[in-house]
Amino acid sequence: MRETILSTYQFILDLLFPAACIFCGREGNYFCLNCAAKIPTNAPNCFVCQKRSPEGKICRNCSRKTKIRRFFAGYHYENEFIKKAIRKFKYNFIKDLSEPLGNLLVNFLKNYFPKNLEPEKFLIIPVPLSKQRYSWRGFNQSELLAKIIAHNFRLPLETEVLIRFKNTIPQAEIKNIEERKENIKNAFVVKKPEIIKNKIVILVDDISTIGATLEECAIILKAAGAKQIWAIVVAR
Ligand SMILES: [Zn+2]
Ligand SMILES: [Zn+2]
Repeated sequence: MRETILSTYQFILDLLFPAACIFCGREGNYFCLNCAAKIPTNAPNCFVCQKRSPEGKICRNCSRKTKIRRFFAGYHYENEFIKKAIRKFKYNFIKDLSEPLGNLLVNFLKNYFPKNLEPEKFLIIPVPLSKQRYSWRGFNQSELLAKIIAHNFRLPLETEVLIRFKNTIPQAEIKNIEERKENIKNAFVVKKPEIIKNKIVILVDDISTIGATLEECAIILKAAGAKQIWAIVVAR
């Protein structure tokens, strides 16, 4: 019932204030085709050294330094379109931007992500927010993106297993790399490890810079019995 009321409300809002391109203002969509076409995609690279790696695999020399085995970052965060879109999504609370951003990411993944994955071997898990952060923003941006990816690639989504119990300072507010690692350390726990046992877990987040949050999630998931960890982000 509440859903129906909300969607009716959304429908009226859309009539009154139709979506406009967040870049050029053209009415219709949050990203108009013209602007979306100007956003250059990334090519997959090694999570650690950032050298090109067509399948997103971590290169041999780097594999000791991370628990992540494949990494897909669709776009460059320094691209002005991507930066603006992610900022509006996260800090101006424009929840509906999950759709164009998610679709952008899916388009990228369609080129590079392995095809025909067997769903029973995988779990898509969004990087969780703490309770405080969730109630502040009202949604978890990574979860919305993860839903779109799971739906498009027909892979199961799991949002109850990885929990963030420490309310950390947002990583973007910390400049020093070591302090970032320290900030995120022991921030997560795995509830019901039997669910992830022997699964390939695909973590999803909006952005990653030095990768400390993804790495911390990967460490905890691996320790809890996951078979392998991959990660997908909109931008790096
Ligand atoms: Zn536009
Ligand atoms: Zn490397």
